[in-house]
Amino acid sequence: MARQRLGLLGGTFDPPHVGHLAAATEARAALDLDRVLLVVANDPWQKTAERELSAAADRLAMTEAACRGIEGIEPCAIEIERGGPSYTIDTLRRLSAPDLDLFLILGVDAAAGLPTWERHDELPGLATLVIVERAGDVPPAVDPAWNVVHLPLNRLDVSSSDLRRRVAAGRPLRPYVPEAVIAVVEERSLYGSARS
Ligand code: ATP
Ligand code: MG
Repeated sequence: MARQRLGLLGGTFDPPHVGHLAAATEARAALDLDRVLLVVANDPWQKTAERELSAAADRLAMTEAACRGIEGIEPCAIEIERGGPSYTIDTLRRLSAPDLDLFLILGVDAAAGLPTWERHDELPGLATLVIVERAGDVPPAVDPAWNVVHLPLNRLDVSSSDLRRRVAAGRPLRPYVPEAVIAVVEERSLYGSARS
């Protein structure tokens, strides 16, 4: 049987947006990946001190909605099921299998933080690093132990932080967030959105 090629795009997904979907779908096409998992962090320990996150169940529901109908892009709850702080090393170890090649997909911002990650020196043995580079990005220097692929991506200037501020200010999430995700945001009154 052919080896499987599995991409992982980890994130807080609070909320998921078109930038995440663009990175996942472009990586899947460019690297001929069978599937790309959007891995929803349970406790993104480097972020939790900064602000109150939406509940993991809400972030997962939004991520499920974001992936609906997109071939080869799937939500992954492995870090939520494991509980505790979300360390990518644990996720890679759990997913690795003899007939599987793993691809860790990171934006330049996330890749720059790799040296601060838990047991970061063990990561390069487990996956190929895919650095998503948007025009104007300065790619960070990474541990030479990594097998690195650079993936150019059109810049979609959207971030979850901006989107949370938009909702709080009563501005629309459209068109930066898929309709199915907006439905979850409204149903669950997330980000201070009022039910309309
Ligand atoms: P926040 O604003 O809360 O930091 P975010 O939108 O940056 O949220 P993250 O969960 O921090 O989303 O990022 C998850 C992954 O998606 C990271 O690897 C990040 O580089 C990448 N990413 C985030 N926004 C974009 C975008 N607009 N285009 C491509 N990749 C993105
Ligand atoms: Mg971010």
